[in-house]
Amino acid sequence: MTTQRIFLALILFLLTISCSSSDGSEGSKFVAVMENDSQVELVEAFVQQPNMEVVELPRQVYAGDSFRAVVSSDGGLLGSIKIFDRSTPLLLIANDLLSSQVAVPIEQQSGVVMMELSITGINWRVTEVIAVKILERPVKVDRIYRTQEMIRIATDGTSYAEEADLRRQQAKTYSAHRYTSEFMQIPVVGEVSTFFGDMRAYENGPPSNSHSGVDFAAPKGTRVSASAGGYVIYSATMPVRGTSVVIDHGSGVFSGYHHLSKVYSPVGAWINAGEYIGEVGSTGFSTGPHLHWEVLVYGTPTDPVKWLESGLSLNDLH
Ligand SMILES: [Zn+2]
Repeated sequence: MTTQRIFLALILFLLTISCSSSDGSEGSKFVAVMENDSQVELVEAFVQQPNMEVVELPRQVYAGDSFRAVVSSDGGLLGSIKIFDRSTPLLLIANDLLSSQVAVPIEQQSGVVMMELSITGINWRVTEVIAVKILERPVKVDRIYRTQEMIRIATDGTSYAEEADLRRQQAKTYSAHRYTSEFMQIPVVGEVSTFFGDMRAYENGPPSNSHSGVDFAAPKGTRVSASAGGYVIYSATMPVRGTSVVIDHGSGVFSGYHHLSKVYSPVGAWINAGEYIGEVGSTGFSTGPHLHWEVLVYGTPTDPVKWLESGLSLNDLH
């Protein structure tokens, strides 16, 4: 018995030396000796190796679209994806599985961009750098003749800044948990008058900004429904987008419904996909009655049509 104990103590001592000489970047195996009354138990535990495997990741994506990244990691607790000078969280969605929805800004230049994926476990961190190709989005230019009210909004020096600040704050309030497994739905009956990403030129000026959503022309009072389930985080009037409803679908995805004449849903209300949330109007920076529909990923506008055409379900987003 005594000989056995000395032997185990010697193993423990040698392994301790081996562990302490490790630089910590590799997993370490250790042995613990436990005593209970009459017997000595040998308990072997394994401290996990840093590990990460890419399960889903596109190698090319259009500017203005978003993509989903999924990685598996045994023991990975949290992580992030750094790309386009910003970081989006990799959220734990199941045992050993982390996921993130990443938006490619519409203004992103085409070409190869490096993306850094990092996963952190209890006592380790692993990072991998992967290339993704950004494809140029074909755009057309719409020439718009503004009303006096639109010129006032554009030139008062505060409306755009106030609204940009408001939207930055909204993006920070995302829920990590996804709320719905439904596909995104078209939110109104109407004809598309402007697509996402189209450039805007005012009066006789040069193209100055790209369209952050999809416009549906529809008569004032036409009812607007939620494109997916979620919680209302905004139900009021923005300086530029006018009377608006913004819904948080979880995991960084939001939808926005703008230039409304009427809103039905207060902040904090749960809304099912297809539930009516307001009526078409022409409030804010608008030439006539229409719905401006946006889908934002962590505050970055993405092409709403892609959320319909691709069959991408919110069930796929985490
Ligand atoms: Zn619009």
